[in-house]
Amino acid sequence: MANRTRRSAGLGAAALAAGLVAGMTGVGDGRAEEPPRAKPVRPGPAPEASPARGGAKDGARTACERELARLGARFERIDPVIGEGGCGVSRPYNVRQIAHGVSLAPDTILTCEAALATARWVRDAVVPAARAMGGGARLSAITHATTYDCRGRNNQPDAKLSEHAKGTAIDISGFGFVGHEPIAVMARAGRGTIEEAFQRAVRAAACLHFTTVIGPGADAFHDDHLHLDLARRSRGYRLCQ
Ligand SMILES: [Zn+2]
Repeated sequence: MANRTRRSAGLGAAALAAGLVAGMTGVGDGRAEEPPRAKPVRPGPAPEASPARGGAKDGARTACERELARLGARFERIDPVIGEGGCGVSRPYNVRQIAHGVSLAPDTILTCEAALATARWVRDAVVPAARAMGGGARLSAITHATTYDCRGRNNQPDAKLSEHAKGTAIDISGFGFVGHEPIAVMARAGRGTIEEAFQRAVRAAACLHFTTVIGPGADAFHDDHLHLDLARRSRGYRLCQ
């Protein structure tokens, strides 16, 4: 597991945009363990990005972080993960809250892009699906089984590198609610329950935000989670099962 260090205080000036400050865990809430070079972070008007310090990549990163914060995520930059055989995540994030009032656990190692796809899916599909179950149910927690993991697809050593090995995949294992019992991802087809309807709905909608969606019934490797990733394929092909 990667050694994680909070680096939120090392953000560039552009990252001080008000929305971002709201999302970055430990910034401005007095609970951060500030590294020695930390500068005080004062919420306020966003200064212009410094062209000397930020390239297009940094600009995209800042935009991603700002959007994540806007969606209610709370997250922190963690140290780059360098694995063997092409594994690794150069700019990983630990996301502890994926939407307003919705925790994500345990700790993650995700790219910002993957975190953002997850946050959008939660906002657009999971939160409404929870509400639609009725009885005052409100989504409050999402649990995952794996984010970053240096391995081949389906844990096969000779297979092509999994998206997990790049920090662009997440295995969703369950959902927690206020006003409803937790729903674990499992084979539910044919049961005719509201939980089956919920799982079907969020799984189908995930294909709008991820390019790979594999879950129970697809194969033996995915009986207890929804595998979601951002694999890039020719002509934008999506593999949703
Ligand atoms: Zn997976």
